[in-house]
Amino acid sequence: MPEGFCLGCHGKCCTEFTVYLTHLDIRRLSSCLGLAPSSFTGLYEVVPRHEHPVINLSAGEVRIGLRRENGGCCLLEDREGALRCGVHEHKPMECRIYPYGLDIYGRLNHLANYMCPLDVHPKDEAESREIVKEIRQQKEELREYSEVVRRFNDLPEERRQDIDDFLRYSVRRRSLLWTIRRRLNRSPGNLHDRMGLP
Ligand code: SF4
Ligand code: SF4
Repeated sequence: MPEGFCLGCHGKCCTEFTVYLTHLDIRRLSSCLGLAPSSFTGLYEVVPRHEHPVINLSAGEVRIGLRRENGGCCLLEDREGALRCGVHEHKPMECRIYPYGLDIYGRLNHLANYMCPLDVHPKDEAESREIVKEIRQQKEELREYSEVVRRFNDLPEERRQDIDDFLRYSVRRRSLLWTIRRRLNRSPGNLHDRMGLP
């Protein structure tokens, strides 16, 4: 979603929803913000009927997302009385594609929980194609994240004590190399852009 699009709004989606993250979102945000993941992530109870993978820590099951504070995402910024995303270029994939999804025929559609107050129809075919491309990327990244979580959940319990164990595991070298290898096999031309590598 282009940044200018949201100028008539006050971060309605950013205050209403919890944004779940993948290991790739965390990595991109962390390198963009220069902050430890623990400073902008939060843990959330598992709610039913949500597709985001569940992390199985020895203390219980959680999902990881952007930390919420003051009634909204911790990355929202108040700019002269208007709430704006503070990391527009690096925002998580869930934010990038909101409020769009694909219907069962692969066509662009508004999400079922669509509550954006503005007219969000793409302005032309080129914009539609770009959004569809981002939605497909988001689905691919979510699949990769699911695999990372599945592998982590298979570790012995003593290696799944708390979320720091997961964060270390999900961004560690072996996991990253494994992801890069899969990317290289699929689409080497897009590797740097899509992995957020320099
Ligand atoms: S990262 Fe940006 S767009 Fe996403 S919820 Fe936070 S402030 Fe909103
Ligand atoms: S609700 Fe719509 S206009 Fe408002 S910040 Fe979210 S995407 Fe932008």
